[in-house]
Parts: sequence; structure tokens; C-alpha cells
Amino acid sequence: MDHKPTVGVIGAGIVGISCALHLLRLGRKVIVLDRDRPAAGASYGNGGVLACCAVVPVMTPGVLRRAPRMLLERDAPLFLRWSYLPRLMPWLLPYLRNARRDRVERIARALTPLLYDSVAEHRALAADSAAARRIQASSYLFLYPHRAAFEADRFAWDLRAAAGFNWEVLEGGAVQECEPAITRACGCAIRLHGHGLIVSPGDYVTELAEQVVRLGGKVQRDEVVALQPRAKGVSIITRGGRADGLEVDAVVIANGAWSGPLGRRFGANVPLQSERGYHLHFRAAEGAPSMPLMYVQRKVAVTPMDGDLRFAGIVEFGGLSAGPQRAPLRMLRRTARQLLPNLRAAPPQEWLGHRPATTDSLPLLGVSPRHRRVFFACGHQHIGLTAGPKSGRLVAEMVCGREVGIPMAAYRVERGGIITTTP
Ligand SMILES: Cc1cc2nc3c(=O)[nH]c(=O)nc-3n(C[C@H](O)[C@H](O)[C@H](O)COP(=O)(O)OP(=O)(O)OC[C@H]3O[C@@H](n4cnc5c(N)ncnc54)[C@H](O)[C@@H]3O)c2cc1C
Repeated sequence: MDHKPTVGVIGAGIVGISCALHLLRLGRKVIVLDRDRPAAGASYGNGGVLACCAVVPVMTPGVLRRAPRMLLERDAPLFLRWSYLPRLMPWLLPYLRNARRDRVERIARALTPLLYDSVAEHRALAADSAAARRIQASSYLFLYPHRAAFEADRFAWDLRAAAGFNWEVLEGGAVQECEPAITRACGCAIRLHGHGLIVSPGDYVTELAEQVVRLGGKVQRDEVVALQPRAKGVSIITRGGRADGLEVDAVVIANGAWSGPLGRRFGANVPLQSERGYHLHFRAAEGAPSMPLMYVQRKVAVTPMDGDLRFAGIVEFGGLSAGPQRAPLRMLRRTARQLLPNLRAAPPQEWLGHRPATTDSLPLLGVSPRHRRVFFACGHQHIGLTAGPKSGRLVAEMVCGREVGIPMAAYRVERGGIITTTP
């Protein structure tokens, strides 16, 4: 008989699948449950950038002052469904309180260990699988209209410098010498080495899920509706399963922007929202750049994917159930035309997805304060593709009672969601 402990993982996005692969490698039996196919959520349509330097949260000093104007400007990256505002408020108020300089510095310090070695973590995760070929090392190019705009963004670059990143500044024609496809309206670019990208993130996570099965795990399509604590473990109650549930020794909540209800039941008191984002995906694009770009003034990531090209970005507040709006997609289309004037491709595919966003821009990683066999791996907001493999490894080590190599206090699920200013 096989007495290996079994771990249930809820959610087959990059975070859940990363947990599953690491748990299998640590000798656990694993069953992943997703109500849809693997990579049905944010892990399908993200920008594909392994953004090791993405330590700067969306909420920074001054954003509150700029937000009302941004909501009126058609090319700003912020959108709101006004009817959703009352339901957003309990999340929005603590989120805004975390925009203070000292709090943002603390968030950046806590994000750094999850991000900086992302390319190596992806390579280790995908080793021996078909997914490995989709990982590409690359530089990452941040674009500004001119040097003054870069200098006005100094706070963000100081945070990146404090996190150990360095860069080269390109000006004037040097920007187009580096990437001929970029409009001359971008007169300043910041190039960071040591980054990467994932070609077709949805296929990547699907192939990782196939690797879970190859290593002996199960990936099952079913919706988790509740968790019942038992004397020695947890029963997972699903829509399609037995009434008394599927008994496992431990469970990991990793269902992205939908983690809120189960999370609250098991002691997470960090509010979670969907930060809705969009992409345009151009197939067989001519006139594309060779490396990922960040068009800073619109916060749009542009990523070449094996001949295809993806524009991804937008922060829209509007909840999990409403469909896409046209205005954010129109903004992405204008960005594509203006940034890459010689881009030629068939009309792009459009997509809307849900970033799982906490009020302090940090994920929830660790054990439930209410049940020692329930663990969390969710809330990765804008950086889940980059940080997923590392988060999966850390949570798998915690599930198996191993020492993890970094301090985990900043990611505790009962922390409250307001960053305290003590280090
Ligand atoms: C437009 C956009 C661009 C982005 N660009 C980048 C980028 O360039 N780089 C980066 O690092 N990150 C990026 N991100 C963020 C990244 O995509 C997310 O942080 C990450 O995908 C979250 O992964 P996840 O596994 O937590 O959630 P998801 O991928 O959303 O997976 C959650 C899964 O849970 C399942 N599920 C939900 N509820 C249940 C239930 N009750 N029972 C069973 N299953 C359930 C869903 O079907 C889904 O498959 C971007 C996000 C967006 C929206």
C-alpha cells in the first residue's frame, strides 16, 4: 500500500501547478482541482514577462492625487465600472493607505526575494518537461518619451536599485538602434539585463499540468465549494464529487482572484479584489520588437512570443462577473499603433482576465491560523507568472514541514493587509 500523504491543490494556474510540481518532487501525492481546464484564469492571458525587477507596486506616493484625472483620460491605464464602486470600497481604502512612501519601500523589500531569480526558478520548475522550451532569457526595456520623464520616475528606479538591479540608459537614436520597431517618440529607454519571458503562458502552464500527471499526480476538473476540517486532514467538497468530500492530508488554496471566500473561512484577513486586465494578441506579427517592452506612461507590457506579439496591461476595477468593456481594448489598440508604427498583423485576439490583488500588493503564502493542514498560495496581483514557481516551492516546503530559506512573515495570511512601518 502507498502511504504517501496526499495534498489537494485548488486551482490549476501557474501558482497551483507550481505548488503541485514541487509537492510531487518532495514525495507527496497530489490532486489538483480546477473548475475549468489548466490555465483558464490570469495565467492564460498575462503579459508573459518574467519581470524580476517588478518590486514597485501599483500604489505609489502620488497615485491617489493622479487617479481622478487618470479615470477621465482615455489613454491612462486606469478604468473603473462606477456601479462597482460601493463594493470596491472595503478593499480600496486599505489599498490607498499603503501608498505611503515608507510602506511602499517595505512592500518592495518583501517582493524582492520572490522575484529576482525568476528565470532560474522557472527553469528548475519546468526541467524535463515540454514547457521548458517556452522559457526565454532576455533583457527588459522600459520606454519613456524623454530623459526628463525617466527622471520624474526616480522613486520607482530607486526602489529597483535598492533591490539590487542596475541598468543602462539609452537616449535619442540609441533607442531605435536597440529596437528598430519602436516609434521615435520614445527618446529614452532603460535596459535591464537578466530578465525573461514565457512564450504563450497558457500553453506553458498546460504543459506543466501535463508534467504533474506524468510525475504521478492527478489534475481533475471540478469546482471546490467548501473545505471541511477533519481530525487528521481536510475534506474537499466539490460540485461534482461525493457529498462527504475528498479526504486529503493537506490542502493548498491557490484559486487566484477567486480565493476570497475560502480564504476568509480559513482566517485570511487580507482583502482580495480582482484587478481586471486585458490583452491583445497579434498572430504572426511583422515589425515586432525582439525583447519585452514596458511602455511606462500607459503601463502596457509588449512581449514577442515566437512570431506573435502580445500587448497586456490595464487596471480596471469592476469585479469578477462583469464582461469586458470596449474602452480599455481601444486604448491597447491605440498603443499598438503609436508605439510600433510599422506593426503588420491580422486583427488581434482580445482577452480579459483577473489579477488576484491584495491591499498590500503582497501574496498570501503560508498556513491558515485556523487549521494547520490548510495552506495559502494566492494574491500574486501583477507578478504571479514571475513569482509563481518560487511561491510554489516555498509553500510546498511549508506543507512538508521543511525549513524555507527566506523570512515569510510579510506573506502571513492573518497580517491584515495594511503594511506596518516597522521593518
Ligand atoms: C493583463 C495581465 C497581464 C499580466 N502580465 C503579467 C506578466 O507579464 N508577468 C507576471 O509575472 N504576471 C503578470 N500578470 C499576473 C499573473 O497573470 C497572475 O498573477 C497569475 O496568473 C495568477 O496566477 P494564479 O495561479 O494565482 O491564478 P489564475 O491563473 O487565475 O488561476 C486560478 C485558477 O483557479 C480556478 N478556480 C477558481 N475558483 C475555483 C474553485 N472554486 N474550484 C476550483 N478551481 C477554481 C480557475 O479556474 C483558475 O484556473 C498579468 C495579469 C494580467 C491580468
